[in-house]
Amino acid sequence: MNYLARQKKLAAALRQGGCDALLVTHLPNVLYLCGFTGSAGVLLLHVSERSHKLTFYTDGRYTQQAHEEVQSARVVVGKRAAFIEGCEGAQKARVKTLGFEADQLSYSAYKQLGQIVRGKTKLKPTSSLVEQLRLIKDADEISQIRASVLLAASLFQTALSVIKPGVAETQVAGELELQARRAGAEKMSFDTIVAAGPRSALPHGRASAQAIPNQGFIILDYGVILASYCSDMTRTVHAGAVSRTHRRMYEAVREAQLASIGAVKPGVATGEVDRAGREVLKKAGFEAFFTHSTGHGVGIEVHESPRLARGQTQKLAPGMVVTIEPGIYIPDEGGVRIEDMVLVTETGHEVLTPTTKDLITL
Ligand code: ZN
Ligand code: ZN
Repeated sequence: MNYLARQKKLAAALRQGGCDALLVTHLPNVLYLCGFTGSAGVLLLHVSERSHKLTFYTDGRYTQQAHEEVQSARVVVGKRAAFIEGCEGAQKARVKTLGFEADQLSYSAYKQLGQIVRGKTKLKPTSSLVEQLRLIKDADEISQIRASVLLAASLFQTALSVIKPGVAETQVAGELELQARRAGAEKMSFDTIVAAGPRSALPHGRASAQAIPNQGFIILDYGVILASYCSDMTRTVHAGAVSRTHRRMYEAVREAQLASIGAVKPGVATGEVDRAGREVLKKAGFEAFFTHSTGHGVGIEVHESPRLARGQTQKLAPGMVVTIEPGIYIPDEGGVRIEDMVLVTETGHEVLTPTTKDLITL
């Protein structure tokens, strides 16, 4: 990973924003800028006109890990919490205008920061400075994401081998998660969703103790974190004979998903991608049952920018990695969602998720 290149870009953004230092407290941003994967670390980026200086603060639990992982930054292992050490670092350096990550700092931490950097330092809230950089994945990140997507996709077969009427949803999730860990995943990207029968009408139905019924849809939505990068995919399968209504629901979602994927290319607003799929569901009479947005960015975090939702004007650009995941949820009837991860390329897009979208029946 080219941490130095990222730091330079951030330093430029910081100068433009009128700060001479930034306190980075959001751990995914810390990881992005210097490679630290632990749970206690703060970065202080100091900029001058031509250069920048990065200091990483952590506590004694992470001495060895910090020295092994952190790149292109000076490592300070303090006696107190990393956040306090970082604030004091800024105080000692006599920073004039100190930016902080306004969306990521609790009120009490903000007050603490104010007490430590009293005097001539002015505090300035910043928003998404690092997240803006993280929007566009570099070549190293794209290859990590590909590996994460492929690992998740390979687990779909595992899920299919255990999923059958009478088996608890948690049992399916458990098997999937065990295999993910055996294959080297750090953890799941989020709590695995296995939602069967009427529960498939819950867009976020976490696996429950309920048994898979003989009849109806089963939504499987899961992802893994591999080498710090997330994946996220959804497939919907069906138990028992498929009714006409269920067939129509499935085909409508598949068509909508393909329409949204077809709209993905540089320069297109994310709201347009959402609209392309929503239009298909409208024609099929299901629009009212598509109750969430079309997708989101994926990277170090499973939900990051951009948002692919109604009315969003942000333009897609090469290097963005997004999900496309329309769905239909009809109370008491069931639900369908199909989700792929898609890379925005120079000329259009590449679907990263290799898994079939044909309706699989058990
Ligand atoms: Zn998902
Ligand atoms: Zn998703």
